[in-house]
Amino acid sequence: MYQHKFKVAALPAWAAIATCLVPCVSGFCARADTRQANYTELAEQLSSSALIYLPGSDTFEDAVARWSNLSVPVANVVVSPGSEEDVVTTVKFANKYQVPFLATNGFHGSITTLGKMSSGIEIYLNQLNSVEISEDGQTAKIGGGIRSKNLTDALWAASKQTVTGTCECVSYLGPGLGGGHGWLQGHHGLVSDQFLSFNVVLADGSLVTVDESSDLFWGLKGAGHNFGIVTSVTSKIYDLTKPNYAVNTIFFSGDKVKEVYQLANELWITNGTMPEDLNNWSYWFYDPTIDADKPVIAMYIIQEGVDVVDSVHTQPFLDLGPIMSQPQSGTYLDLGKWTGISLADGPCQKTGNANPRFPIYLKQYNPEAQAQVYELFRQATTNDSTPFSGALFMFEGYSQQGLKAPGDEASAFAYRSENLLVAPLLTYAPTGQAVEQAAYQLGNQIRDILYQGSGESSLSTYVNYAYGDETPKAWYGSESWRQDRLSALKKKYDPTAKFSFYAPIA
Ligand SMILES: Cc1cc2nc3c(=O)[nH]c(=O)nc-3n(C[C@H](O)[C@H](O)[C@H](O)COP(=O)(O)OP(=O)(O)OC[C@H]3O[C@@H](n4cnc5c(N)ncnc54)[C@H](O)[C@@H]3O)c2cc1C
Repeated sequence: MYQHKFKVAALPAWAAIATCLVPCVSGFCARADTRQANYTELAEQLSSSALIYLPGSDTFEDAVARWSNLSVPVANVVVSPGSEEDVVTTVKFANKYQVPFLATNGFHGSITTLGKMSSGIEIYLNQLNSVEISEDGQTAKIGGGIRSKNLTDALWAASKQTVTGTCECVSYLGPGLGGGHGWLQGHHGLVSDQFLSFNVVLADGSLVTVDESSDLFWGLKGAGHNFGIVTSVTSKIYDLTKPNYAVNTIFFSGDKVKEVYQLANELWITNGTMPEDLNNWSYWFYDPTIDADKPVIAMYIIQEGVDVVDSVHTQPFLDLGPIMSQPQSGTYLDLGKWTGISLADGPCQKTGNANPRFPIYLKQYNPEAQAQVYELFRQATTNDSTPFSGALFMFEGYSQQGLKAPGDEASAFAYRSENLLVAPLLTYAPTGQAVEQAAYQLGNQIRDILYQGSGESSLSTYVNYAYGDETPKAWYGSESWRQDRLSALKKKYDPTAKFSFYAPIA
Protein backbone atom coordinates (compact mmCIF):
# COMPACT_ATOMS: atom_id res chain seq x y z
CA MET A 1 0.00 0.00 0.00
CA TYR A 2 1.31 3.41 -0.92
CA GLN A 3 2.56 5.62 1.88
CA HIS A 4 2.67 9.35 1.20
CA LYS A 5 6.29 10.15 2.06
CA PHE A 6 6.42 13.84 1.36
CA LYS A 7 8.37 15.65 4.07
CA VAL A 8 8.70 19.40 4.18
CA ALA A 9 12.40 19.99 3.93
CA ALA A 10 13.31 22.67 6.43
CA LEU A 11 16.65 23.66 4.99
CA PRO A 12 17.12 26.83 3.02
CA ALA A 13 18.73 26.48 -0.38
CA TRP A 14 22.28 27.33 0.71
CA ALA A 15 22.12 24.89 3.62
CA ALA A 16 20.32 22.23 1.61
CA ILE A 17 22.94 22.27 -1.07
CA ALA A 18 25.66 22.00 1.52
CA THR A 19 23.94 19.07 3.16
CA CYS A 20 23.13 17.40 -0.09
CA LEU A 21 26.63 17.63 -1.45
CA VAL A 22 27.33 14.46 0.52
CA PRO A 23 25.58 12.29 -2.08
CA CYS A 24 28.10 13.59 -4.64
CA VAL A 25 30.44 11.05 -3.21
CA SER A 26 28.15 8.27 -4.32
CA GLY A 27 28.05 9.59 -7.84
CA PHE A 28 24.69 11.35 -7.67
CA CYS A 29 26.16 14.83 -7.44
CA ALA A 30 24.10 17.49 -9.16
CA ARG A 31 27.29 19.43 -9.84
CA ALA A 32 28.36 16.56 -12.04
CA ASP A 33 25.75 17.67 -14.56
CA THR A 34 27.27 17.39 -18.00
CA ARG A 35 26.91 21.09 -18.61
CA GLN A 36 28.82 21.97 -15.43
CA ALA A 37 26.08 24.03 -13.83
CA ASN A 38 27.23 25.10 -10.39
CA TYR A 39 24.25 24.69 -8.09
CA THR A 40 26.03 26.27 -5.16
CA GLU A 41 26.08 29.44 -7.21
CA LEU A 42 22.33 29.10 -7.72
CA ALA A 43 21.73 28.42 -4.04
CA GLU A 44 23.55 31.60 -3.10
CA GLN A 45 21.28 33.66 -5.35
CA LEU A 46 17.97 32.25 -4.10
CA SER A 47 15.86 33.60 -1.25
CA SER A 48 16.28 32.10 2.21
CA SER A 49 13.06 30.09 1.87
CA ALA A 50 14.02 28.40 -1.42
CA LEU A 51 15.00 24.73 -1.26
CA ILE A 52 17.23 22.62 -3.46
CA TYR A 53 16.91 18.85 -3.51
CA LEU A 54 19.65 16.67 -4.91
CA PRO A 55 19.53 13.02 -5.95
CA GLY A 56 20.10 10.63 -3.09
CA SER A 57 17.79 12.48 -0.70
CA ASP A 58 14.25 11.38 0.19
CA THR A 59 13.00 14.85 -0.60
CA PHE A 60 14.41 14.62 -4.13
CA GLU A 61 12.88 11.19 -4.70
CA ASP A 62 9.50 12.44 -3.46
CA ALA A 63 9.70 15.56 -5.57
CA VAL A 64 10.40 13.69 -8.81
CA ALA A 65 7.99 10.77 -8.26
CA ARG A 66 5.01 11.06 -10.59
CA TRP A 67 1.44 9.86 -10.84
CA SER A 68 2.19 8.05 -14.09
CA ASN A 69 5.41 6.17 -14.68
CA LEU A 70 5.35 6.18 -18.46
CA SER A 71 7.90 8.37 -20.23
CA VAL A 72 8.75 10.54 -17.24
CA PRO A 73 11.00 13.62 -17.20
CA VAL A 74 14.45 13.16 -15.65
CA ALA A 75 15.97 15.87 -13.45
CA ASN A 76 19.43 16.29 -11.89
CA VAL A 77 18.16 18.74 -9.33
CA VAL A 78 14.88 20.06 -7.96
CA VAL A 79 14.51 23.70 -6.96
CA SER A 80 11.55 24.70 -4.83
CA PRO A 81 11.35 28.49 -5.17
CA GLY A 82 10.40 30.45 -2.07
CA SER A 83 9.30 33.49 -4.08
CA GLU A 84 8.30 34.52 -7.58
CA GLU A 85 11.74 36.12 -7.93
CA ASP A 86 13.36 32.73 -7.20
CA VAL A 87 11.73 31.38 -10.38
CA VAL A 88 13.34 34.22 -12.32
CA THR A 89 16.71 33.44 -10.75
CA THR A 90 16.40 29.73 -11.52
CA VAL A 91 15.39 30.22 -15.14
CA LYS A 92 18.23 32.72 -15.69
CA PHE A 93 20.65 30.29 -14.07
CA ALA A 94 19.41 27.45 -16.29
CA ASN A 95 19.79 29.64 -19.36
CA LYS A 96 23.31 30.66 -18.37
CA TYR A 97 24.40 27.02 -18.22
CA GLN A 98 22.07 25.88 -21.03
CA VAL A 99 20.34 23.45 -18.71
CA PRO A 100 16.78 22.33 -19.59
CA PHE A 101 14.09 23.12 -17.01
CA LEU A 102 10.50 22.16 -16.33
CA ALA A 103 7.85 23.53 -13.95
CA THR A 104 6.35 20.83 -11.76
CA ASN A 105 3.33 21.22 -9.58
CA GLY A 106 0.90 18.39 -8.74
CA PHE A 107 2.90 15.64 -10.62
CA HIS A 108 -0.21 14.47 -12.48
CA GLY A 109 0.96 15.48 -15.94
CA SER A 110 1.19 12.18 -17.84
CA ILE A 111 1.74 13.16 -21.46
CA THR A 112 4.63 11.15 -22.90
CA THR A 113 6.32 14.24 -24.35
CA LEU A 114 7.52 14.89 -20.78
CA GLY A 115 9.94 12.00 -21.26
CA LYS A 116 11.92 14.13 -23.72
CA MET A 117 13.49 15.85 -20.72
CA SER A 118 16.50 13.65 -19.98
CA SER A 119 18.33 16.01 -17.60
CA GLY A 120 17.96 19.43 -16.05
CA ILE A 121 16.17 21.35 -13.33
CA GLU A 122 12.65 20.69 -12.12
CA ILE A 123 11.21 23.88 -10.70
CA TYR A 124 8.79 22.54 -8.11
CA LEU A 125 6.29 25.29 -7.37
CA ASN A 126 4.81 23.89 -4.16
CA GLN A 127 5.83 26.82 -1.96
CA LEU A 128 4.03 29.34 -4.16
CA ASN A 129 0.67 28.45 -2.68
CA SER A 130 -0.77 31.69 -1.33
CA VAL A 131 -4.36 32.89 -1.76
CA GLU A 132 -5.13 36.61 -1.32
CA ILE A 133 -8.75 37.63 -1.74
CA SER A 134 -9.26 41.18 -2.98
CA GLU A 135 -11.06 43.71 -0.80
CA ASP A 136 -14.13 43.71 -3.00
CA GLY A 137 -14.27 39.90 -2.86
CA GLN A 138 -14.46 39.57 -6.66
CA THR A 139 -10.96 38.25 -7.36
CA ALA A 140 -8.10 36.40 -5.71
CA LYS A 141 -4.37 36.42 -6.36
CA ILE A 142 -3.37 32.77 -6.29
CA GLY A 143 0.11 31.26 -6.12
CA GLY A 144 1.20 29.33 -9.20
CA GLY A 145 1.89 26.17 -7.17
CA ILE A 146 -1.36 25.76 -5.29
CA ARG A 147 -3.28 22.47 -5.39
CA SER A 148 -6.95 22.36 -6.23
CA LYS A 149 -8.11 21.35 -2.73
CA ASN A 150 -6.01 23.95 -0.97
CA LEU A 151 -7.50 26.67 -3.13
CA THR A 152 -11.05 25.40 -2.69
CA ASP A 153 -10.60 25.18 1.09
CA ALA A 154 -9.08 28.66 1.37
CA LEU A 155 -11.94 30.19 -0.62
CA TRP A 156 -14.55 28.12 1.18
CA ALA A 157 -13.36 29.52 4.52
CA ALA A 158 -14.22 32.97 3.13
CA SER A 159 -17.58 31.76 1.71
CA LYS A 160 -16.19 31.98 -1.82
CA GLN A 161 -15.50 29.55 -4.63
CA THR A 162 -14.10 29.36 -8.14
CA VAL A 163 -13.70 26.81 -10.93
CA THR A 164 -10.87 24.35 -10.25
CA GLY A 165 -10.14 20.89 -11.62
CA THR A 166 -12.12 18.22 -9.84
CA CYS A 167 -9.29 16.09 -8.44
CA GLU A 168 -8.13 17.32 -5.03
CA CYS A 169 -4.40 16.65 -5.46
CA VAL A 170 -3.95 18.03 -8.96
CA SER A 171 -2.62 21.59 -9.13
CA TYR A 172 -4.76 24.60 -10.04
CA LEU A 173 -2.51 25.83 -12.87
CA GLY A 174 -1.75 22.44 -14.47
CA PRO A 175 -5.35 21.94 -15.63
CA GLY A 176 -5.92 25.68 -16.08
CA LEU A 177 -3.11 26.18 -18.57
CA GLY A 178 -4.66 23.52 -20.83
CA GLY A 179 -8.24 24.78 -20.36
CA GLY A 180 -9.34 23.15 -17.13
CA HIS A 181 -12.62 21.29 -16.63
CA GLY A 182 -14.39 21.46 -13.27
CA TRP A 183 -17.72 21.00 -11.51
CA LEU A 184 -18.56 24.70 -11.73
CA GLN A 185 -17.94 25.14 -15.46
CA GLY A 186 -21.68 25.19 -16.21
CA HIS A 187 -21.89 28.47 -14.31
CA HIS A 188 -18.56 30.12 -14.97
CA GLY A 189 -16.69 28.33 -17.77
CA LEU A 190 -13.31 26.64 -17.71
CA VAL A 191 -10.65 27.14 -15.06
CA SER A 192 -8.80 29.30 -17.60
CA ASP A 193 -11.89 31.45 -18.19
CA GLN A 194 -11.45 32.72 -14.63
CA PHE A 195 -7.94 34.07 -15.21
CA LEU A 196 -7.72 37.87 -15.34
CA SER A 197 -3.95 38.28 -15.27
CA PHE A 198 -0.85 36.16 -14.92
CA ASN A 199 2.55 36.79 -13.40
CA VAL A 200 4.68 34.66 -15.65
CA VAL A 201 8.39 34.01 -16.06
CA LEU A 202 9.16 33.87 -19.76
CA ALA A 203 11.84 31.85 -21.52
CA ASP A 204 14.45 34.61 -21.12
CA GLY A 205 13.85 34.74 -17.36
CA SER A 206 11.89 37.99 -17.34
CA LEU A 207 8.92 38.20 -14.96
CA VAL A 208 6.01 39.92 -16.72
CA THR A 209 2.35 40.52 -16.01
CA VAL A 210 0.09 39.31 -18.80
CA ASP A 211 -3.53 40.43 -19.00
CA GLU A 212 -6.09 40.86 -21.76
CA SER A 213 -4.06 43.68 -23.26
CA SER A 214 -1.35 41.18 -24.25
CA ASP A 215 -1.46 38.80 -27.23
CA LEU A 216 -0.04 36.13 -24.94
CA PHE A 217 -3.17 36.17 -22.74
CA TRP A 218 -5.12 34.19 -25.37
CA GLY A 219 -2.37 31.57 -25.70
CA LEU A 220 -1.83 31.06 -21.98
CA LYS A 221 -5.47 30.01 -21.65
CA GLY A 222 -5.34 26.62 -23.35
CA ALA A 223 -1.76 26.19 -24.55
CA GLY A 224 -0.13 27.83 -21.54
CA HIS A 225 2.46 25.12 -20.83
CA ASN A 226 4.26 26.35 -23.94
CA PHE A 227 5.01 29.90 -22.90
CA GLY A 228 6.28 30.33 -19.37
CA ILE A 229 6.11 29.52 -15.70
CA VAL A 230 3.11 31.08 -14.02
CA THR A 231 4.18 32.23 -10.58
CA SER A 232 0.77 33.66 -9.67
CA VAL A 233 -2.56 34.35 -11.29
CA THR A 234 -5.43 36.68 -10.50
CA SER A 235 -8.72 34.85 -10.94
CA LYS A 236 -12.42 35.61 -10.69
CA ILE A 237 -14.05 34.23 -7.56
CA TYR A 238 -17.71 33.98 -6.62
CA ASP A 239 -19.93 34.07 -3.54
CA LEU A 240 -20.69 30.61 -2.24
CA THR A 241 -24.45 30.57 -2.59
CA LYS A 242 -25.24 26.88 -2.99
CA PRO A 243 -22.87 24.82 -0.86
CA ASN A 244 -25.04 21.72 -0.68
CA TYR A 245 -24.82 18.93 -3.25
CA ALA A 246 -26.34 15.51 -3.82
CA VAL A 247 -25.25 12.56 -5.92
CA ASN A 248 -26.99 9.40 -7.01
CA THR A 249 -24.53 6.75 -8.17
CA ILE A 250 -26.42 4.22 -10.24
CA PHE A 251 -24.61 0.97 -11.08
CA PHE A 252 -25.54 -0.90 -14.24
CA SER A 253 -24.55 -4.23 -15.65
CA GLY A 254 -22.55 -3.88 -18.86
CA ASP A 255 -25.47 -5.60 -20.63
CA LYS A 256 -27.23 -2.24 -20.47
CA VAL A 257 -24.49 -0.22 -22.12
CA LYS A 258 -26.52 0.81 -25.17
CA GLU A 259 -29.65 1.76 -23.23
CA VAL A 260 -27.72 3.75 -20.63
CA TYR A 261 -25.90 5.94 -23.16
CA GLN A 262 -28.90 6.23 -25.47
CA LEU A 263 -30.77 7.64 -22.49
CA ALA A 264 -27.92 9.99 -21.51
CA ASN A 265 -27.97 11.31 -25.08
CA GLU A 266 -31.71 11.85 -25.09
CA LEU A 267 -31.87 13.53 -21.71
CA TRP A 268 -28.87 15.79 -21.95
CA ILE A 269 -27.72 16.16 -25.55
CA THR A 270 -30.05 15.26 -28.42
CA ASN A 271 -33.46 16.08 -26.89
CA GLY A 272 -32.33 18.24 -23.99
CA THR A 273 -29.41 20.07 -22.39
CA MET A 274 -27.45 19.30 -19.28
CA PRO A 275 -28.92 21.77 -16.77
CA GLU A 276 -26.46 24.26 -15.29
CA ASP A 277 -26.77 22.78 -11.80
CA LEU A 278 -26.13 19.20 -12.98
CA ASN A 279 -23.02 17.18 -13.86
CA ASN A 280 -22.86 13.61 -15.06
CA TRP A 281 -19.84 11.39 -14.99
CA SER A 282 -19.68 7.67 -15.57
CA TYR A 283 -16.94 5.14 -15.02
CA TRP A 284 -16.48 1.61 -16.23
CA PHE A 285 -14.32 -0.65 -14.06
CA TYR A 286 -14.06 -4.28 -13.11
CA ASP A 287 -15.22 -4.93 -9.55
CA PRO A 288 -15.96 -8.63 -8.98
CA THR A 289 -17.85 -7.80 -5.78
CA ILE A 290 -20.49 -6.12 -7.95
CA ASP A 291 -20.25 -8.23 -11.11
CA ALA A 292 -17.83 -11.16 -11.26
CA ASP A 293 -18.04 -11.49 -15.05
CA LYS A 294 -17.64 -8.04 -16.51
CA PRO A 295 -16.97 -4.37 -15.81
CA VAL A 296 -19.70 -2.38 -14.16
CA ILE A 297 -21.08 0.97 -15.36
CA ALA A 298 -21.24 3.54 -12.54
CA MET A 299 -23.35 6.61 -13.46
CA TYR A 300 -22.81 9.60 -11.20
CA ILE A 301 -25.65 12.12 -11.39
CA ILE A 302 -24.57 15.12 -9.36
CA GLN A 303 -26.78 18.10 -8.54
CA GLU A 304 -25.99 21.40 -6.91
CA GLY A 305 -28.14 23.10 -4.27
CA VAL A 306 -30.19 20.04 -3.26
CA ASP A 307 -30.03 17.22 -0.73
CA VAL A 308 -31.58 14.65 -3.07
CA VAL A 309 -31.01 14.59 -6.83
CA ASP A 310 -34.24 15.58 -8.57
CA SER A 311 -36.00 12.42 -9.72
CA VAL A 312 -36.52 13.96 -13.14
CA HIS A 313 -32.82 13.23 -13.68
CA THR A 314 -32.56 9.87 -11.91
CA GLN A 315 -35.89 8.11 -12.48
CA PRO A 316 -35.34 7.45 -16.21
CA PHE A 317 -32.10 5.65 -15.30
CA LEU A 318 -33.69 3.78 -12.40
CA ASP A 319 -36.37 2.65 -14.85
CA LEU A 320 -33.67 0.87 -16.88
CA GLY A 321 -33.20 -1.62 -14.02
CA PRO A 322 -29.78 -0.95 -12.46
CA ILE A 323 -27.90 -3.32 -10.15
CA MET A 324 -28.16 -0.76 -7.34
CA SER A 325 -28.23 2.97 -6.66
CA GLN A 326 -26.50 4.95 -3.94
CA PRO A 327 -27.91 8.39 -3.10
CA GLN A 328 -25.68 10.61 -0.94
CA SER A 329 -25.86 14.20 0.22
CA GLY A 330 -23.34 16.69 1.52
CA THR A 331 -21.56 19.73 0.15
CA TYR A 332 -19.35 20.70 -2.76
CA LEU A 333 -16.41 19.56 -0.62
CA ASP A 334 -17.66 15.94 -0.81
CA LEU A 335 -17.57 15.71 -4.61
CA GLY A 336 -13.98 14.44 -4.71
CA LYS A 337 -14.77 11.65 -2.24
CA TRP A 338 -17.98 10.65 -4.04
CA THR A 339 -16.23 10.34 -7.38
CA GLY A 340 -13.06 8.66 -6.06
CA ILE A 341 -10.63 11.54 -6.55
CA SER A 342 -10.18 12.92 -3.02
CA LEU A 343 -6.76 13.13 -1.39
CA ALA A 344 -7.36 9.71 0.19
CA ASP A 345 -8.29 7.95 -3.06
CA GLY A 346 -6.18 5.95 -5.51
CA PRO A 347 -5.72 8.67 -8.16
CA CYS A 348 -4.01 10.88 -5.59
CA GLN A 349 -1.38 8.23 -4.79
CA LYS A 350 1.86 7.61 -6.61
CA THR A 351 1.71 3.84 -7.00
CA GLY A 352 4.53 3.37 -9.52
CA ASN A 353 2.00 2.40 -12.20
CA ALA A 354 1.94 3.70 -15.73
CA ASN A 355 -1.31 5.57 -16.38
CA PRO A 356 -1.77 6.37 -20.07
CA ARG A 357 -5.08 7.78 -21.28
CA PHE A 358 -6.41 7.97 -24.83
CA PRO A 359 -8.84 10.90 -24.71
CA ILE A 360 -11.38 12.04 -27.23
CA TYR A 361 -13.98 14.81 -27.11
CA LEU A 362 -17.40 13.84 -28.43
CA LYS A 363 -20.54 15.78 -29.25
CA GLN A 364 -22.75 12.88 -28.20
CA TYR A 365 -22.60 9.19 -27.40
CA ASN A 366 -22.87 6.68 -30.21
CA PRO A 367 -24.54 3.73 -28.44
CA GLU A 368 -23.24 1.22 -31.03
CA ALA A 369 -19.68 2.46 -30.58
CA GLN A 370 -20.14 2.42 -26.80
CA ALA A 371 -21.13 -1.25 -27.02
CA GLN A 372 -18.11 -2.09 -29.18
CA VAL A 373 -15.62 -0.42 -26.88
CA TYR A 374 -17.32 -1.93 -23.85
CA GLU A 375 -16.65 -5.37 -25.30
CA LEU A 376 -12.96 -4.54 -25.85
CA PHE A 377 -12.74 -3.13 -22.34
CA ARG A 378 -14.46 -6.22 -20.93
CA GLN A 379 -11.97 -8.54 -22.62
CA ALA A 380 -9.03 -6.43 -21.49
CA THR A 381 -10.05 -6.13 -17.85
CA THR A 382 -11.44 -9.57 -17.08
CA ASN A 383 -9.23 -12.19 -18.71
CA ASP A 384 -7.19 -14.21 -16.21
CA SER A 385 -3.75 -12.96 -17.16
CA THR A 386 -4.59 -9.35 -17.92
CA PRO A 387 -2.32 -6.52 -16.76
CA PHE A 388 -5.26 -4.12 -17.16
CA SER A 389 -7.70 -5.34 -14.49
CA GLY A 390 -7.35 -1.95 -12.74
CA ALA A 391 -8.24 0.08 -15.83
CA LEU A 392 -10.89 2.78 -15.65
CA PHE A 393 -12.95 4.11 -18.52
CA MET A 394 -14.05 7.69 -17.87
CA PHE A 395 -16.97 9.59 -19.40
CA GLU A 396 -17.24 13.20 -18.28
CA GLY A 397 -20.43 15.07 -19.10
CA TYR A 398 -20.20 18.48 -17.45
CA SER A 399 -22.79 21.17 -17.78
CA GLN A 400 -21.75 23.44 -20.60
CA GLN A 401 -23.44 26.85 -20.43
CA GLY A 402 -20.47 28.71 -18.94
CA LEU A 403 -18.04 26.87 -21.19
CA LYS A 404 -19.84 27.78 -24.42
CA ALA A 405 -20.70 31.37 -23.48
CA PRO A 406 -17.38 33.04 -24.40
CA GLY A 407 -17.47 31.62 -27.95
CA ASP A 408 -15.08 29.30 -29.79
CA GLU A 409 -12.37 31.86 -30.43
CA ALA A 410 -12.12 33.22 -26.89
CA SER A 411 -8.93 31.36 -26.00
CA ALA A 412 -6.46 28.74 -27.15
CA PHE A 413 -8.75 26.04 -25.74
CA ALA A 414 -10.29 24.73 -28.96
CA TYR A 415 -13.11 22.45 -27.89
CA ARG A 416 -15.97 24.51 -26.52
CA SER A 417 -18.40 22.96 -29.00
CA GLU A 418 -17.83 19.44 -27.65
CA ASN A 419 -20.10 18.01 -24.96
CA LEU A 420 -18.30 14.98 -23.58
CA LEU A 421 -14.76 14.19 -22.52
CA VAL A 422 -14.13 10.46 -22.82
CA ALA A 423 -10.95 8.54 -21.98
CA PRO A 424 -9.89 5.01 -21.18
CA LEU A 425 -7.22 5.08 -18.46
CA LEU A 426 -5.20 1.89 -18.91
CA THR A 427 -3.42 1.58 -15.58
CA TYR A 428 -0.74 -1.11 -15.47
CA ALA A 429 2.45 -2.08 -13.66
CA PRO A 430 5.25 -0.98 -16.02
CA THR A 431 6.95 -4.34 -16.46
CA GLY A 432 8.33 -3.77 -19.94
CA GLN A 433 7.73 -3.03 -23.58
CA ALA A 434 5.18 -5.79 -24.16
CA VAL A 435 2.63 -4.35 -21.75
CA GLU A 436 3.39 -0.80 -22.89
CA GLN A 437 2.69 -1.83 -26.49
CA ALA A 438 -0.46 -3.72 -25.50
CA ALA A 439 -1.79 -0.64 -23.70
CA TYR A 440 -0.93 1.57 -26.64
CA GLN A 441 -2.67 -0.72 -29.12
CA LEU A 442 -5.76 -1.19 -26.99
CA GLY A 443 -6.07 2.50 -26.12
CA ASN A 444 -5.79 3.55 -29.75
CA GLN A 445 -8.15 0.82 -30.91
CA ILE A 446 -10.78 2.00 -28.43
CA ARG A 447 -10.29 5.64 -29.35
CA ASP A 448 -10.44 4.87 -33.04
CA ILE A 449 -13.82 3.15 -32.69
CA LEU A 450 -15.18 6.17 -30.83
CA TYR A 451 -13.69 8.52 -33.42
CA GLN A 452 -15.14 6.57 -36.36
CA GLY A 453 -18.46 6.46 -34.55
CA SER A 454 -18.42 10.22 -34.02
CA GLY A 455 -18.46 11.04 -37.72
CA GLU A 456 -15.92 13.82 -37.14
CA SER A 457 -13.15 14.53 -39.65
CA SER A 458 -10.41 15.41 -37.17
CA LEU A 459 -9.50 14.03 -33.77
CA SER A 460 -10.25 16.30 -30.80
CA THR A 461 -8.31 15.47 -27.64
CA TYR A 462 -7.92 17.16 -24.28
CA VAL A 463 -4.26 18.16 -24.06
CA ASN A 464 -4.25 17.51 -20.32
CA TYR A 465 -5.32 13.89 -20.77
CA ALA A 466 -3.40 13.27 -23.97
CA TYR A 467 -1.23 10.18 -24.48
CA GLY A 468 1.49 12.19 -26.18
CA ASP A 469 1.74 11.16 -29.82
CA GLU A 470 -1.40 12.93 -30.96
CA THR A 471 -0.66 15.93 -33.13
CA PRO A 472 -0.67 19.61 -32.09
CA LYS A 473 -3.81 19.86 -34.24
CA ALA A 474 -5.51 17.30 -32.03
CA TRP A 475 -4.37 19.09 -28.84
CA TYR A 476 -5.00 22.68 -29.88
CA GLY A 477 -7.58 22.49 -32.68
CA SER A 478 -7.27 21.66 -36.36
CA GLU A 479 -8.22 25.09 -37.72
CA SER A 480 -5.26 26.63 -39.49
CA TRP A 481 -5.85 30.04 -37.85
CA ARG A 482 -5.36 28.42 -34.43
CA GLN A 483 -2.16 26.70 -35.46
CA ASP A 484 -0.84 29.89 -37.08
CA ARG A 485 -1.70 32.03 -34.06
CA LEU A 486 -0.04 29.59 -31.67
CA SER A 487 3.06 29.23 -33.84
CA ALA A 488 3.42 33.01 -34.02
CA LEU A 489 3.14 33.31 -30.22
CA LYS A 490 5.66 30.51 -29.75
CA LYS A 491 8.10 32.20 -32.11
CA LYS A 492 7.69 35.51 -30.31
CA TYR A 493 7.77 34.36 -26.67
CA ASP A 494 9.74 31.11 -26.73
CA PRO A 495 11.85 31.18 -29.90
CA THR A 496 14.32 28.58 -28.65
CA ALA A 497 11.58 26.19 -27.47
CA LYS A 498 12.54 26.06 -23.80
CA PHE A 499 8.93 25.24 -22.86
CA SER A 500 8.57 22.20 -25.05
CA PHE A 501 8.30 19.20 -22.80
CA TYR A 502 4.53 19.40 -22.36
CA ALA A 503 2.51 19.05 -25.58
CA PRO A 504 4.75 21.32 -27.64
CA ILE A 505 3.31 23.58 -30.30
CA ALA A 506 4.79 22.60 -33.63
C1 LIG B 1 -6.57 11.93 -11.16
C2 LIG B 1 -6.59 13.06 -12.14
C3 LIG B 1 -7.66 13.94 -12.14
C4 LIG B 1 -7.69 14.99 -13.03
N1 LIG B 1 -8.76 15.82 -13.01
C5 LIG B 1 -8.81 16.84 -13.89
C6 LIG B 1 -9.92 17.73 -13.89
O1 LIG B 1 -10.85 17.61 -13.12
N2 LIG B 1 -9.93 18.73 -14.79
C7 LIG B 1 -8.94 18.91 -15.69
O2 LIG B 1 -9.02 19.82 -16.49
N3 LIG B 1 -7.87 18.08 -15.71
C8 LIG B 1 -7.79 17.06 -14.84
N4 LIG B 1 -6.73 16.21 -14.86
C9 LIG B 1 -5.66 16.40 -15.86
C10 LIG B 1 -4.72 17.47 -15.41
O3 LIG B 1 -5.16 18.71 -15.92
C11 LIG B 1 -3.27 17.21 -15.92
O4 LIG B 1 -2.86 15.95 -15.50
C12 LIG B 1 -2.33 18.29 -15.45
O5 LIG B 1 -1.17 18.25 -16.26
C13 LIG B 1 -1.91 18.08 -14.02
O6 LIG B 1 -1.16 19.18 -13.56
P1 LIG B 1 -0.22 18.99 -12.31
O7 LIG B 1 0.30 20.30 -11.92
O8 LIG B 1 -0.92 18.20 -11.28
O9 LIG B 1 0.95 18.07 -12.88
P2 LIG B 1 2.47 18.42 -13.23
O10 LIG B 1 2.96 17.19 -13.87
O11 LIG B 1 3.18 18.91 -12.04
O12 LIG B 1 2.34 19.58 -14.26
C14 LIG B 1 1.98 19.31 -15.60
C15 LIG B 1 2.58 20.36 -16.49
O13 LIG B 1 1.92 21.58 -16.28
C16 LIG B 1 2.81 22.65 -16.44
N5 LIG B 1 2.66 23.49 -15.26
C17 LIG B 1 2.11 23.17 -14.07
N6 LIG B 1 2.05 24.26 -13.28
C18 LIG B 1 2.58 25.27 -14.00
C19 LIG B 1 2.79 26.65 -13.75
N7 LIG B 1 2.45 27.23 -12.59
N8 LIG B 1 3.34 27.41 -14.74
C20 LIG B 1 3.69 26.86 -15.93
N9 LIG B 1 3.52 25.57 -16.22
C21 LIG B 1 2.96 24.78 -15.26
C22 LIG B 1 4.17 22.06 -16.67
O14 LIG B 1 4.43 22.06 -18.06
C23 LIG B 1 4.03 20.64 -16.21
O15 LIG B 1 4.83 19.74 -16.94
C24 LIG B 1 -6.65 15.16 -13.95
C25 LIG B 1 -5.58 14.28 -13.95
C26 LIG B 1 -5.55 13.24 -13.07
C27 LIG B 1 -4.39 12.31 -13.09
